[in-house]
Amino acid sequence: MDLKEYIASIKDFPKEGILFRDITPLMLDGKAYKFACDQMIEYAKEVKATVIVGPEARGFIFGCPVAYALELGFAPVRKPGKLPRETVTVKYDLEYGSNELSMHKDAIKKGDRVLIVDDLLATGGTVDATIKLIEKLGGTVVGAAFFIELEALEGRKLLEGYDVFASLKY
Ligand code: 5GP
Repeated sequence: MDLKEYIASIKDFPKEGILFRDITPLMLDGKAYKFACDQMIEYAKEVKATVIVGPEARGFIFGCPVAYALELGFAPVRKPGKLPRETVTVKYDLEYGSNELSMHKDAIKKGDRVLIVDDLLATGGTVDATIKLIEKLGGTVVGAAFFIELEALEGRKLLEGYDVFASLKY
């Protein structure tokens, strides 16, 4: 199955100069969506993940099916102020300004083998911040799985030393 057929490429979204890769056509096709999730499920088995972590919001789209299929727990990574209990937070730089991401303090336990799942790897800033959160909580990051990798943005450079899986590359 050629999964690129299910990705819409939108010029100048959300701002000028950006070519946005839209995964919603993939999600609308049940067979294609399952095929994409199945690849991540196989990867999660290979790295022997014991818990799945996904950044909001599109990390939930792929992360939750992986967790469900393997009967693993899922822990969300969210913008500050969204999680109701005690959290850890990491700040990271964007091209203009900065961003913060949080996780519940009890989401990860020492010894957990954590697989990070997100829809797309661009600069790597989101996954790098997510790794910091997991490691602060004592977890071991055994891999990062993306549906799409934008190779020109060299996100993998930030992830040196970590195992990275991507179904599609642009
Ligand atoms: P990064 O932090 O690696 O620069 O950006 C990755 C994050 O931004 C992911 O959480 C992803 O959902 C979002 N993102 C950035 N560009 C795109 C895009 O073209 N398409 C989609 N679907 N998400 C994107």
